[in-house]
Amino acid sequence: MLRKFLSDYLTSKLYLLTKIYFRTNMKGKVYLIGAGPGDPELISVKGLRFLKKADVVIYDNLINKKLLKEVKENAELIYVGKSSGEHTLPQESINKLMEEKSKEKEIVVRLKGGDPFVFGRGGEEALYLAEKGIPFEVVPGITAAVAVPAYAGIPVSHRVFNTTIGLITGHEDSSKKGSRLNWEKISSAYETLIFYMGMKNIEKIVQNLLRYGKSPETPVAIIRLGTLPSQKTIMGNLKNIVKLAKKNNFEPPAIIVIGEIVKLREKLNWYESKLLFGKKIIITRSREQTSKLAELLEDLGAETIEIPTIKILPPRNLKPLDNAMKRIKTFNWIVFTSINSFKFFIERFLKIKKDLRELYGIKIAAIGTATKEFIESFNLKVDFYPSEFTSEIFLKEFKKKEKIIGKKILLPRADIARDLIENELKKEGAEVESIVAYRTERELNIPEEVREYINKEKIDFITFTSSSTVKNFFSLKLKIDGAKIASIGPVTSHTLKELGYTPDVEAKIHIIPGLVESILNYYKKENK
Ligand code: SAH
Repeated sequence: MLRKFLSDYLTSKLYLLTKIYFRTNMKGKVYLIGAGPGDPELISVKGLRFLKKADVVIYDNLINKKLLKEVKENAELIYVGKSSGEHTLPQESINKLMEEKSKEKEIVVRLKGGDPFVFGRGGEEALYLAEKGIPFEVVPGITAAVAVPAYAGIPVSHRVFNTTIGLITGHEDSSKKGSRLNWEKISSAYETLIFYMGMKNIEKIVQNLLRYGKSPETPVAIIRLGTLPSQKTIMGNLKNIVKLAKKNNFEPPAIIVIGEIVKLREKLNWYESKLLFGKKIIITRSREQTSKLAELLEDLGAETIEIPTIKILPPRNLKPLDNAMKRIKTFNWIVFTSINSFKFFIERFLKIKKDLRELYGIKIAAIGTATKEFIESFNLKVDFYPSEFTSEIFLKEFKKKEKIIGKKILLPRADIARDLIENELKKEGAEVESIVAYRTERELNIPEEVREYINKEKIDFITFTSSSTVKNFFSLKLKIDGAKIASIGPVTSHTLKELGYTPDVEAKIHIIPGLVESILNYYKKENK
């Protein structure tokens, strides 16, 4: 963590120096970045680095909107997407926009789906920039023709099956005069054919391939919304694929793969066979806390929808906390009851005291393994943590470790925290200062598109990690008929029941991985 901090610090300093050095002739630069095919983690390290620094991001329809969360706070986001056929902004206007922005801002990111130079007009955009003398760089991306079949369990090449791969745009209307597609050559030159933008013309594509000698038995796969939890794949051959595509309502964006290679999917279908593949799961934690749960669920193939129901903020009145910090040396113990209690404590502490050595000699207790691990990631030793999180166990085990009577204990906590531990410690004769280190507030703003999405799609599970997430979520009055409910533990389940909802699963171990496990078990049982 420290190393990362230092390296970020040095990078920003270096960047500042370059800025000062080049101040006189510094101009904006346009970065044509490939965002990858859908899965937001398939952007390159370099692409992500520039996206994070961007002053303005001009983005397309096919990029994953989750990537936009990476931009800095005041970055300008401009949508210029085109969905098949309907152009939101004509190419000429996009070019002009890049030019304009490059005069105003330093880092202009032009974020495009897949690779910017593969059937994505990135070439035209780069040419325009070059002609106008606007500096630019290109950050390649993973193109759909390679990544999408890979997520469907189809390697685009295999020694036994092919030595050539043809990447073809299916967008050209081949029946029109002037089509540049040479079907005779296409049909014979490549063992594997991969079509982009082929859904509208699929009938013509198939007819032409058959006419020029491809066997009707040639295997075909069509993969829609590849590399995303909503990925769908159909398999057939040149004889029946058109019918299958119609029957399954296959619409763009989709990749068509044609060739013997497609058969490997039967053995290699790794992504769609994930345990939670395609399940739509709502996460109700605060924005800062979603990532761990989202990551675990997504790694199992689920699609997560974030509806943060609480905001976690510093206390309104910081005086009591600051005051305790000034007297920090007088405490024997600090008991941290959650990750947030430590996070807000230490942030404030470093802000006003700026010297970790002042914590020297004070013992640290953590409640919950996640809290312990979080504190230890700051290289601070945790002197005590109970084997279970109940106030009885805490007290029993703490008593074994420490003579409590007369000890001064600081308890940084949430504004709405229950004071069980405080009371128990006081009963044993400790001098406890329980101080608000952070407060929670209801999050009331759900973006309209999220609301619409939930109304439209069938949600499989809603996860609750605390009583306040339950109360706040249901006050939002979203349409979630039929969704199953997962609760992190008995307290949360109790609140659910009070509101008239019975949790379908409850975590056995009351932590995030336990919650995920309970959902997994639900589907394991269901699939038996
Ligand atoms: N520059 C992009 C391609 C843009 S053309 C790239 O390198 O991938 C748009 C076409 O790409 C779509 O019509 C579709 O054929 C394909 N495509 C892009 N993303 C896709 C996805 N997630 N799943 C399936 N096809 C995709």
